[in-house]
Amino acid sequence: MIPIALPFLNTEEADAARDVILSGWVSQGPQVVAFEREFAALVDAPFATAVSNCTTALHLALVAANVGPGDEVITASHSFIATANSIRYCGATPIFVDVEPETYNIDPLRVAEAVTPRTRAIIAVHQMGMPCDLPALARLAHQHGLILIEDAACAAGSEICVNETWERIGKAHGQITCFSFHPRKVITTGEGGMLTTSEPEFDRKFKLLRQHAMSISDTVRHGASQVVFERYLEVGFNYRMTDMQAAIGRKQLTKLADIVARRRKLAAAYADMLGNIEGLRLPFEPSWARSNWQSYCVRLPDWVDQKTIMQNLLDRGVATRRGIMCSHREPPYADGMHHDLHNSELLQDHAILLPIYAQMSDDDQARVGDTLRMELRA
Ligand SMILES: *Cc1c(COP(=O)(O)O)cnc(C)c1O
Repeated sequence: MIPIALPFLNTEEADAARDVILSGWVSQGPQVVAFEREFAALVDAPFATAVSNCTTALHLALVAANVGPGDEVITASHSFIATANSIRYCGATPIFVDVEPETYNIDPLRVAEAVTPRTRAIIAVHQMGMPCDLPALARLAHQHGLILIEDAACAAGSEICVNETWERIGKAHGQITCFSFHPRKVITTGEGGMLTTSEPEFDRKFKLLRQHAMSISDTVRHGASQVVFERYLEVGFNYRMTDMQAAIGRKQLTKLADIVARRRKLAAAYADMLGNIEGLRLPFEPSWARSNWQSYCVRLPDWVDQKTIMQNLLDRGVATRRGIMCSHREPPYADGMHHDLHNSELLQDHAILLPIYAQMSDDDQARVGDTLRMELRA
């Protein structure tokens, strides 16, 4: 069976976690501080804050941006449900707009149409690692005084060309960028998340609110020679990452460039293999974007049934997943206010994700290509 994805972990990560376990300090501590410093350096962001996952990162981003009841946040329905849920956690209303059919990313023109006097923020998703049109979205946000939050859950290692320079996602393009280290993403800490920003006030809030707004952190208290008492001046959360996860993450960071290079090779090979199948549409990478290929998503010919193809592939030992979900089709969001979501629904119903992971062999990939070609009778 060829799986849809595999984390890229080995004894290096196991040893790193073991060392932390034996050190006596296992929750948020020195490893988290080092992981934040190294992640910030990697994406060229002034500040980074590690948290328990990307859902909590998105929640903290919205709380720090003062999003609350009565506010609207424009985002894509065509995303994992965490994006929409983070908006609901604040009592705010997600306003779903459609995506572009070629990139699967939020369409800046649709965002512009959806702005109202109640709009406070935009959450733009770099879907499956493909950078969305950040310059256009940043212009819109600036023009309307909105906060631009990037859901970069899938986009660690993805790049965008700005002013003729390639920059990693996470450098301050929007105000706040949120990453995930879930095993389905390109680097993993089991569960984990990261926020980057260039605004010191946001960074201060993230670090305060992730540990119950404690005025003096436990690491500082632990190292102090004087007795100090902490205060809790507002309602915060427990969104901490553990030092075991951070130690794993630091090892993963050293491999990120190689992992992305391998995935880009695999994506190019898929394009060669599948390029001439009638009716099959391959993912599109704009000239100003370099995806990390967190997923490789193809749109099936209109005349085939998605579930039948997926079942036949599974019967032949190839795991796939259907296209990215649409939140507005799930019960919590079914009655919500949203704009035309034609492309989003089309892509959920007609796209499938093919196996892709750094340790995938060329032979296994060829088998996926051959099997899909056979199923499509191409
Ligand atoms: C995975 C994912 C999330 C959630 O990340 P977690 O770390 O699992 O909370 C949010 N948004 C998108 C687009 C994702 O793919």
